[in-house]
Amino acid sequence: MLFENLNIIDPILKALKSEGYTSPTPIQEQSIPAILEGNDLEGCAQTGTGKTAAFAIPTLQLLYSKKRAEKGPLSITALVLAPTRELAIQIGESFTSYGKYTGLKNTTIFGGVSQKSQTDALKAGVDILIATPGRLLDLMQQKYVSLEHIKFFVLDEADRMLDMGLGHDVKRIIAKLPKNRQTMLFSATMPQGISKLIDSILIKPVKVEVTPVSSTIDTIKQAVYFVEKRNKKSLLIHLLKDKAFESVLVFSRTKHGANKITGDLIKVGIKAQAIHGNKSQSARQLALSNFKEKKIRVLVATDIAARGIDVEKLSHVINFDLPDVPETYVHRIGRTGRAGAEGAALSFCDPEEREALRNIEKVISKSIPVIEDHPYLMSNSSTVIRTSGEVKNKDLRKKVYDGKKCQNNYFRKAKKSS
Ligand code: AMP
Repeated sequence: MLFENLNIIDPILKALKSEGYTSPTPIQEQSIPAILEGNDLEGCAQTGTGKTAAFAIPTLQLLYSKKRAEKGPLSITALVLAPTRELAIQIGESFTSYGKYTGLKNTTIFGGVSQKSQTDALKAGVDILIATPGRLLDLMQQKYVSLEHIKFFVLDEADRMLDMGLGHDVKRIIAKLPKNRQTMLFSATMPQGISKLIDSILIKPVKVEVTPVSSTIDTIKQAVYFVEKRNKKSLLIHLLKDKAFESVLVFSRTKHGANKITGDLIKVGIKAQAIHGNKSQSARQLALSNFKEKKIRVLVATDIAARGIDVEKLSHVINFDLPDVPETYVHRIGRTGRAGAEGAALSFCDPEEREALRNIEKVISKSIPVIEDHPYLMSNSSTVIRTSGEVKNKDLRKKVYDGKKCQNNYFRKAKKSS
């Protein structure tokens, strides 16, 4: 299957070609025709499998046809909501790349920075608005944004958008949208609890599920280390002595913890920066771009970096702390093993986190192999280490680094032609 076979218009095909994309990924292959036919859509696919293009391509195409027919002044006709500022920026960049020959304009708005450049862009007119909920509500209140012409609405990372933290704001935004619109909802995880809410947002949706909900991709090798809380720092430094840990995203449960881990790594000469909600937006963006450009080896993050963030050649995700919400594990580890590449996700588990580990294994329907040969193995580990699924450190490295091959055809092809 090629993009040409999906009835995609030339300006978009040309842009995809320059991105090096030739074949749609499974989520794209199934979602693009359904969206182009005008359906609402509920899309669920594993992390890193091309969800952004699955909604961006058909949205651009539908908008392009509509705008050509109408030729009126620019008005915001498509709205994409994302949970974090970094993800919103990344989605905006994708719309810019895929839409570069369409003449359609997009802008991204998010909090933590001055609103001036954002309101200037809005005043100049945009077709597609990508936003985080808080800043959008703010600018709506100030009358910089009107949602009355919205025809296409995308909720990315839908489960996160509808949960307790953001759900209230998102519902307020949805209430202001015209009823006559096309809605697309995407996520890698869709916990049962929100299905009723989803049903109330979508009308007769086409459901696209390319893999079991909440599953993790096989190109990500997972392992767990049982370790006392006090030894986690030493274990991390021990692991980072290995040069194979080229580009490592470390997740910490708290902002304070992220700062502490970063400081500890810097003290022993490892280049690291932290990204979390207490940092200024410019510091957050700088840390992320330093990490993407490989200027630093380790980025220590809270869960603001768990969703959607796409870093090329990210070799390892390390869960310094396990997340309380098991679905968050799926998103965190999905920062590696993207676009068909391989990666490793290692989790530290102290005695208090055993329940969290069990819940994660239930959600992913897999038992995570245990690594025993490390110097900080818990003294009473025999009570927690399961007998099955153990792997040796060197086996894990071998699996991850032998041949670094791409597993999926579409990604392999894309790499060749780029
Ligand atoms: P996403 O899941 O949207 O974050 O995409 C994951 C990665 O796959 C990104 O680096 C995209 O640039 C890349 N990608 C998306 N679609 C394709 C495709 N059809 N062919 C090759 N690479 C793709």
